[in-house]
Amino acid sequence: MNTYGRFPLELVRGKGVWLTDRDGRRYLDAVAGIAVCTLGHSDPVLRRRLCRQLRKLQHVSNLYRIPEQEQLAAAIAARSCADRVFFCNSGAEANEAAIKLARKHGHDVRGIERPLILTAESSFHGRTLAAVTATGQPKYHQGFEPMVEGFRYFPYNDTVAFEALLKQCEAEGPRVAAVLLEPLQGEGGVIPGDPAFFRRVRQLCDERRILLIFDEVQIGVGRSGRWWGYEQLGVEPDAFTLAKGLGGGIPIGALAVKDAVDLLRPGEHASTFGGNPFACRAGLTVIEEIEKRQLLPHVQRMGERLEHLLAELQASHPTLIEGVRGWGLLRGVVLREGGPTAPQVVQAAMDEGLLLVPAGTRVVRIVPPLVIRPRHLRTLVKRLGRALERVG
Ligand SMILES: *Cc1c(COP(=O)(O)O)cnc(C)c1O
Repeated sequence: MNTYGRFPLELVRGKGVWLTDRDGRRYLDAVAGIAVCTLGHSDPVLRRRLCRQLRKLQHVSNLYRIPEQEQLAAAIAARSCADRVFFCNSGAEANEAAIKLARKHGHDVRGIERPLILTAESSFHGRTLAAVTATGQPKYHQGFEPMVEGFRYFPYNDTVAFEALLKQCEAEGPRVAAVLLEPLQGEGGVIPGDPAFFRRVRQLCDERRILLIFDEVQIGVGRSGRWWGYEQLGVEPDAFTLAKGLGGGIPIGALAVKDAVDLLRPGEHASTFGGNPFACRAGLTVIEEIEKRQLLPHVQRMGERLEHLLAELQASHPTLIEGVRGWGLLRGVVLREGGPTAPQVVQAAMDEGLLLVPAGTRVVRIVPPLVIRPRHLRTLVKRLGRALERVG
């Protein structure tokens, strides 16, 4: 179906941070399948583990115990504040599970008949009906009304507005089941969360036994230089969702929860494909390799270098670049109003052999594989500079 505005580019092969199109042209990949290909393309270890898993077992069903799934859940729990994990196949689906969990909590714990979930403006939580309703951007709702009921929105990082909305919703007693937030808004324009705002939200949620759920689909699994984005904020959620980077390119999603909010009972939620041995082998390999290759400190170092190089680029193009923001290897170059738009810069970069992705009309997003090296970063920023000069 005609659901995508696609570039006329056909990529046929990849190795590490490089992609090759059908004409043999090479591109430095600063998209990574939109924050998915954590270990780069065609990683030898991931390839080997997945081939071995295919020879052993690909799929059974959640009717039976799946050791790879239990191991991956344990690996996530050991590295996070969560105790238990539900597996599915995508980010939207992980957020659907979180939304169901939130409503269950609203009914069972807070005794609410019609529970509300509060989410942020300019957020992104996926395209299924409840996830897109949670997404605080009217453009994604348009044409699909009526939306799912029970969502209210507030401006991201705005403590005063959040408190006002919470007070208004709870004026006549408990109404709010959960607050769902990205630690850093990715699609919305690479906007990092403000620790003071998140601390206050945590406090208000604790006072009322409201669930605080983080959507870690884009920033989680090492992209920020820590395992989870919430570590950048110093605030723990009650539950969080994962997908994109977790499988290194194999579809997988997850809802991770603390024991205290492990509320879903057998029969209340399920997924046919979710947590199958193949996808979980991918997730396990990604986590093991991040550790073995010490990619968390690597991402911190590469993130700092990239930040430095982008600051230099901004200094040499002050009329085009308004600012640079982000964490680790998720960075946004904010373009000035009146100059070239993000899609124009992305197109020009492609002509220079660099793949980038917009985050809205004014932000160019840089989300390379976590295995990117310093020489690649230099090439990346050089090509981005040439792209800016083409359209500037
Ligand atoms: C991409 C994304 C989603 C949706 O993930 P899908 O796998 O496309 O359903 C949800 N939340 C965030 C923060 C994302 O970046």
